[in-house]
Amino acid sequence: MAKFHNLGGRGSIACKDCNYRESVLSFIHQDGRCILGYQCEVCGKFTTRVRLQLFEEYYSPSGDDEKISDLPEKYRPHRIEHLQGLIKICLIGVDKGPPTRSWMRKWWKTIDECNQELSLISADEIRDVNNRREAYEREFNATLICECGGGINCDQNLFCPSCRSNNLAYKISFIS
Ligand SMILES: [Zn+2]
Ligand SMILES: [Zn+2]
Repeated sequence: MAKFHNLGGRGSIACKDCNYRESVLSFIHQDGRCILGYQCEVCGKFTTRVRLQLFEEYYSPSGDDEKISDLPEKYRPHRIEHLQGLIKICLIGVDKGPPTRSWMRKWWKTIDECNQELSLISADEIRDVNNRREAYEREFNATLICECGGGINCDQNLFCPSCRSNNLAYKISFIS
């Protein structure tokens, strides 16, 4: 079943039941922002929202990961979120993953390394980054409303805005 979050780029949706057609955008990434496709859960209208890349990512010339202590200040928030994300993923792995010893060791080692790197950062700076993220998400989530008052969604099964059928074809015309 077609959902926006597993399509991509720009394309058109065609209803196989009533022949309704509309060009839609499902996902485009450019200039540090994403444009995402959404559909209203109530009236079926297609729409888009722009998500900013809140924190800039540092790309080192060597391609190696740069430790947070070596990063220019403006790249630190992204690194902090990256480390926190890694810890979260590894903790899920430790919890649910295959209990193979070598994997476990790798996960715990990564958690250790991330925590060590984070320990170089003051609790205030980390809290500030997390607060800015929360504020952004709150602000963004508040925009997920259609003009009709219904909620808009990017991971539901798409349906025809005209006859509400799920029997849709998606044709990509531009891949981002
Ligand atoms: Zn609506
Ligand atoms: Zn239809």
